[in-house]
Formats: sequence, structure tokens, C-alpha cells
Amino acid sequence: MKSVPFFNYPHVFRSYEEQFKKAFHDVGNRGAFIMQSDLVEFEKSIAEYVGVKYALGVANATDGLQMGMMAGGIGPGDEVIFCSHTMVATASAIHFAGGIPVPIETGPDHLIDIDSIEAAITSKTKAICPTQLNGRTANMDAIREIAVKHGLLIFEDAAQALGSKFKGKCAGTFGVASCISLYPAKILGCLGDGGLVLTNDDSVYEKLHQMRDHGRGHDGDVHMWGLNSRLDNLQAAFLNVQFKDYPAVTSRRRQLASLYQDRLSRIEQLSLPVAPDADPDHFDVFQNYEIEAENRDELKIYLAEKGIGTLIQWGGKAVHQFTKLGFNQKLPKTESLFKKMIMIPMNMSMTDEDLHYVCDSIESFYAN
Ligand SMILES: *Cc1c(COP(=O)(O)O)cnc(C)c1O
Repeated sequence: MKSVPFFNYPHVFRSYEEQFKKAFHDVGNRGAFIMQSDLVEFEKSIAEYVGVKYALGVANATDGLQMGMMAGGIGPGDEVIFCSHTMVATASAIHFAGGIPVPIETGPDHLIDIDSIEAAITSKTKAICPTQLNGRTANMDAIREIAVKHGLLIFEDAAQALGSKFKGKCAGTFGVASCISLYPAKILGCLGDGGLVLTNDDSVYEKLHQMRDHGRGHDGDVHMWGLNSRLDNLQAAFLNVQFKDYPAVTSRRRQLASLYQDRLSRIEQLSLPVAPDADPDHFDVFQNYEIEAENRDELKIYLAEKGIGTLIQWGGKAVHQFTKLGFNQKLPKTESLFKKMIMIPMNMSMTDEDLHYVCDSIESFYAN
């Protein structure tokens, strides 16, 4: 039977295997494992590509966001507003920075619901942290306007959004600090865990530079309490190999999204993401292709029987539904979206033929 996996990890490895081996031998023979030239090169390439002053490699995006918040001014008791349709990591970064995560509703584009932000603002609110989900950047004009009006900071969970733009500016450049994830299934994924923290602010950068490395400064002295959260130099070397193809990768993803749009837009039981180029303010990179589908659970089973992998983001629960973490909000818009949302294959391993097979199968499900 034909199979279209949701994500094909071995395929990613095999498509770069020879270059990875070279990088492995090269790094190994130089003994260059921690904070060496490959990491510096990678950080430079990312900062240039994103159009941000500083990019720092860290152990993972969650640490990056947490440290970004710590360096950027979040402390004990500060409330930070975020969208409940995100990874729990957004909330845990706020929590471990000392803040109080305040989840709010999800808008029609599956990102933070701009109209719900102001109602969540209290005297303790310190920041808004939109998640630039599925490779799309939120309406940052609207968020900035609210932030300025209420004197709030902005942080971005841009874990899924490397290269995604709003009005020509990349995700990760709007906030005091933001994170990018390099987890293997992310658009730019290494062979393990990895992440980046981005900032345009010199003093936040200085703090982050120390914070990720035990509080040590360029002089080797300890200047502050720090973490051990560095991106391995070997991973940076693998990432340098893959990053050369990044523009081609984002074009291919946008092409797949256009094909999905052409094939699926006439199925009335579905609601699709905004098509690439449909909205000139947004340049989406399609980390995921997340649709809303009637009879979602049956569709998922049907597609699995056809060998097609799908995924319901975050195991089917919004962050505010993790009640063991102390959340008690009711977010009806988000809860109703969570009954319909499902992600269909969107990755660099799939062919056009694979995509048409996915679409044929979805069509035949609703035709019955
Ligand atoms: C993947 C992801 C994270 C976590 O990234 P790690 O690098 O695994 O820490 C955080 N937020 C969102 C929205 C993500 O998709």
C-alpha cells in the first residue's frame, strides 16, 4: 500500500548523509565540540537571514524563550498573555522565568486572537507572547499597538516560524527576545535538540550570552547566575549544511500549500489555512498545514487506513486544558477549534504525487 508518513525522519538524514558525515569527521578531528567556529558561523547566518542583530544558539527553543524572558525583564508575579493553541513550552518558559502564564483564545487563523488580548490585561500584565504558529506570523501591527497602549513588552515564540514574515519583517524581530526551535521535525531541524534565541537589544544580548553559559562573560569571569544551555557545535555544523537550502525549502513548502489549496478548497467540510500569496501582509513558511475538518476523528482513522499520517497538534489539548498545571480558564473558541483541527502531511520528503494521493483520499472520505 502507498504510504505518506506525517514526517519521515530517516529521509531527512539520508538526504544529507554524506555532508553530515563530512561535518562529523571535520568537527571531531578539530575536537570542536562546545561553542566553536561552526556555532558562530551558524548564528551569523541566522541573524543575517532573519534580519535581527543577534542570534544565539541554545539547547532548545524552550530554554531560549525562558532565558529571553529572564533577560528581557520578566520576573516573579508578572503576567504574560499567550495563545492557548501552542505548545506547553510557551507556558513553561513563562513559568520558569518566574511569570504567570495567562492563556487566551485562538483566532480564525489559529494564532493568538487579537480581539481577546485587551480583556486579559490586568495591573500585573507585563508582556504579550504570541506564538508564530504553523510558520505564520501574527498581525504584529495590532499586537504592537496594544502593547504600546498598555505599556507591555512583546516576546515571540517563533519556534515554528524561521523565515516567516509579517509586512516584510521576519518572525523573531518584533519582540524583546524570541526563540526558534531546531528540533528535528521543525523546518530547520538538527539531529537532536537545538534552538536559538534572537534579540535586537544589546543589553539583552549581553545577558543572554552569559546566561546560556553558566553566567560566564567573554572574560571568563562569572557575572550572573546562569544556565547550561548551549547549542552543540556539532549540531551547528549539521545545521550549516542544511541551512544553505533553506530558501529552497520554504519555497517548496509554499508550493505544497498552493497545491493543497487548489485541490482541497472546494471541499466544503474543510477550512484551509490562508493560501500563500493570498494576503500580501503575510509570508508563511508552512511549518505545518493545519486544517479544520468536519468528522475529524473519522477522517484521521480513514487516512491512517490509507497509509497517510496525520497529527492533531499538542495531543489534542490546548494549554489551558492542562488543568494539572493550575489553569482554570474557559476558552470556548479554542476548545471548539480543537475538535476540528488536524495537520496533514507537509514536509520535504513528500512528492507531488504523495500530495495528490492525500487529496484523493480526503475527497473520497467526504464523497462517501
Ligand atoms: C517545538 C516548539 C517549541 C519547543 O521547541 P524546543 O526546541 O523543543 O524546546 C515551543 N513552542 C512551539 C510553538 C513549538 O512548536
